[in-house]
Amino acid sequence: MFTHSVSIGRYFGIEVRIDPSWLVIAFLFGWSFYAQFQHVFPDLASTTNLLLSATSVLVFFGSVVLHELSHSVMARRLGIPVEGITLFLFGGVTKTRMEASKPRDEFLVAVVGPATSIAIAGVLWALVNWGSVLIQGPLAYALGYLGWLNLGLGLFNLLPGFPLDGGRVLRSILWATGGSLPRATRRAAGVGKLIAAIMIAVGLLSVFTGNLGGLWMAAIGWFLYQAAVAVDQDVVLKALLQEVRARDLMSPNLITIPWDATIRDAVDGYFLRYDHSAFPVVGRDQPGLITLRAVRQIPNDQWELREVWTATTSLDDACTVGPDTPMDKVMEKLREQEGEQDRVLVVDGDRILGIITPRDILRWVRRSEELGLAAVDAEL
Ligand SMILES: [Zn+2]
Repeated sequence: MFTHSVSIGRYFGIEVRIDPSWLVIAFLFGWSFYAQFQHVFPDLASTTNLLLSATSVLVFFGSVVLHELSHSVMARRLGIPVEGITLFLFGGVTKTRMEASKPRDEFLVAVVGPATSIAIAGVLWALVNWGSVLIQGPLAYALGYLGWLNLGLGLFNLLPGFPLDGGRVLRSILWATGGSLPRATRRAAGVGKLIAAIMIAVGLLSVFTGNLGGLWMAAIGWFLYQAAVAVDQDVVLKALLQEVRARDLMSPNLITIPWDATIRDAVDGYFLRYDHSAFPVVGRDQPGLITLRAVRQIPNDQWELREVWTATTSLDDACTVGPDTPMDKVMEKLREQEGEQDRVLVVDGDRILGIITPRDILRWVRRSEELGLAAVDAEL
């Protein structure tokens, strides 16, 4: 997700990016502002209305950025590294590099967002009521309207279902009052699924009664449902994998390439023959790894001439784990190098014992479920 997002600068040291899908919501909001203003002020000139609608979109956009920035700034103050903010079709997300380690921190990071939105509503209404004489007529109406939108944004985000801010607040409270973090997460995700399901149902119902806006509500519900399910599955998976060591899950029968084989040999005898995207290279004092990506970078006419050891990468900490590493840690490692390489080698000193790819984890989980071993639900 968000691979095509564009940076619009850093604010308070936090990078803000816009995903192209956000333009859809900007357009929809602009359109509905225009229709609303025309409805309330039938005499408003269309150029003035356009200007006012565009300004309103910008103010609303700024409000969402401020909401997300408040999450980011609070997280950073509490020592949680922040990657940045991305605005997309369904609003904004703040990406942190790790989760809060204490319930109190989680609570503060979550609650500051809705609090900011509600505060913005207060400021906008104060401007309308006590602002200068310049703010009146359509402009005052627009600001008041934006105030209501911000209040709605704040209250909606306070709904107590994960992944909404209110769901995080609920999780932090459950976590603090004796529950484990996994159990608190599952509960909050459960409420999140319920809220999402209600939104989908109400949204679709109102579509059938002729209100097309319900489609939008159902879409947001669908998005929230997916996110809640993903969080839920992640917790179950982590709990399952905690109990398993790398040596118990790895594929042990490694297919290795001798170090003096040519690239051509490696392509014909291994990369075209097996489904793997990397092979350990052995036979020299230090084992290494040759990847599909490395082979792709070598021009075809050199394949006969070059030996594989010239294109291997050495095994460093980033791509290796010990045989007794718990699998939830292995999964974290695989996630950290997301996109870089999708495997870790299980090594004992200089000896390669096996390999673990996301597919191995998936196979293990599926097999455990088939055999009735994955009884994690009862324990959480
Ligand atoms: Zn938020």
